[in-house]
This record gives sequence, structure tokens and C-alpha cells, in this order.
Amino acid sequence: EQRQLNRLRREPTRTLDGTDVKLWANAESRDDVTEAHALGAAGVGLYRTEFLFLGSSELPDEDTQFHAYRDAVLAMTGRTVTIRTLDLGADKADKTGLALRDEPNPALGLRGVRLSLARDGLLRTQLRAIARASGYGPVRVLVPMVSGGEEMRAVRTALDEVLRELRAEGRETAAQLPLGAMIEVPSAALALPSFIGICDFLSVGTNDLVQYLLAADRTNEALGGLYSPLHPAVLRVLRDVVRIGQRRGRPVTVCGEIAADPAFTPLLLALGLTELSLHPATLLEVRRTIRASDLERLRASAPALLRARNRAGIEAWLTAQASRTH
Ligand code: PEP
Ligand code: MG
Repeated sequence: EQRQLNRLRREPTRTLDGTDVKLWANAESRDDVTEAHALGAAGVGLYRTEFLFLGSSELPDEDTQFHAYRDAVLAMTGRTVTIRTLDLGADKADKTGLALRDEPNPALGLRGVRLSLARDGLLRTQLRAIARASGYGPVRVLVPMVSGGEEMRAVRTALDEVLRELRAEGRETAAQLPLGAMIEVPSAALALPSFIGICDFLSVGTNDLVQYLLAADRTNEALGGLYSPLHPAVLRVLRDVVRIGQRRGRPVTVCGEIAADPAFTPLLLALGLTELSLHPATLLEVRRTIRASDLERLRASAPALLRARNRAGIEAWLTAQASRTH
């Protein structure tokens, strides 16, 4: 079976009825990037930069970050690398000296872009390193934990400044550096029409979106089945984000764990997604599932999926799709 999967490394990610789906890879190390390339990923859809910051008590300087980002860009040989700015919260940031002491609720605290904007130089240094890496191949910048347009405007301003500065220094950067928002805080999903105009692309982080929509801690095992993407509210939000993206011509990716589980692939295709980003570990399985999917039929059954009243109804829809593909 592994051999059959391996054959899919060089095959396109195309549905039975001929639509190409973009399968990006999530990467949190150099090895993940190498693996993503070998598997024929469309690019890196989520490059998590936290690992650079968690290794030591000192913040990585611009050159250290630049070298890591440039290596990823070069390893992808012309395919786009989507670099996410730092997504640390007080639960992890205490070792880096970035966090406030004793934040009572790190998941709702100074995390992600909030921390990047609050700490002097943090965002600027990281954007400079990313922009310098863009001189070596296509790069996009992705902003985590966006709650609305103000954060995106602040990052956009900082990015424009950094690009101007680097050019004045005579450094090579890409002419354009697409800037995207993670949609993982419910307010960002609901307010999206008010700021999609300043986003070049969107990436839905279902891990946090589920946590914040359902008020269910993603790390709390006591919650059992409560923390699950199979909730009608999650599907509604996903459908709405996809629609708004389509209407405004902004590509939408899903990069949470839901994208990595082939059991959920039919659901994401039905909701209109054509771009997923997932860890290399299951990329070929998801590609296999997409290649066995009839996209038009799935989309036609989206209304039934959205009518499901609870998890059991959504699971029944998934079971019905699975029996039709195999
Ligand atoms: C997410 O929240 O879905 C996501 C992809 O980001 P992380 O898991 O790093 O929070
Ligand atoms: Mg997240």
C-alpha cells in the first residue's frame, strides 16, 4: 500500500471530474520543507516560525531568521513558501523573555500578532528577515490570531516600511509580498467583509477557530468530543469564509488539522475549498482521497451537509460520501 501511495508523489492533485486542488504543506522544521518538496506539495502553506524562537532564551536575530527562511525558500525551488509571523502566547513565550509574567489566560492573551505588535522590534525584525528571503523565491506572509482589520493594517504598514527600507539599503526583495490573514478568531471571520480588501489571501486555522467558536480548550482532554470541527457552527463559518473569499477573488486555504485527515476531505471539498495545507505525514493520503472524489457531486450535496443539526448528522453525511467513493 505504501508503494501505491508513493506513486502519488508525482501525480497531480486532481478530482475525478478534473479540478485541480492545491495541496500545500505545513512545516515546522527544515526536514518538513524537504519532505514537502519530495511529495510534490504545491508549496509551503504554513511555515510555523515558532521553532526558531523556542530553542533558546535569546531571540533569533535578523540574520538567523533570514538564513532559516531563505533555506526554506531555496529548498522549495520556486514553489511559494508562506511564512507565518510568530505565533507565541504566554504559555510558550515565557522562555523567550517576550511574555508578560503570569498571564491568567494565555489563549486569550497577548498571543500571535498581538505579541508581535506589542514588543518593540519583534515584528520589524521578522518582516525584514522574511522580505530578504523573498529575494530568493516566492514568499507570502501570513499573520496569526488576527481579530479584525486593525491588526492587518498595522502589519501592512510595517511591511511596506520594511520593504522601502530594504530597497534603500540596496537589498534584493520580491517586487510583491502577498500578505494574508489567518482566520482563526471568530471576530475575524464575522468581520471579514470589512477587511478582506487589505488581505491578499486567507488561511483558515481550524484548530483555533474550533477552540474559540466552541469555547473549548484545544488541549483539554476532559472536554472529549466537544472540541471537534464537526459542529454546524464551524461548517457555517467555513462556508461563509470561502464564499467571501471567492466573491472578492482572494484564495482561501484551510491549514488546521481538519485538512490533514482524509476522512474530512469530502467535507472541505463540498464547502467549496480548493486549497488545503497539511503536514507532509498525510499529504499523499489526502491526495489519494481527492483523486477519488467527484467534486461536482460533493458540492451538490453541500446543502444537505449544512442542514445537519449536530455532529451525528455531519458524521452521517461523511459516511454516506465514503460509501460512494470506495
Ligand atoms: C490553527 O489554529 O488551525 C493553526 C493552523 O495554527 P496553530 O495550530 O499553529 O495554532
Ligand atoms: Mg492557530
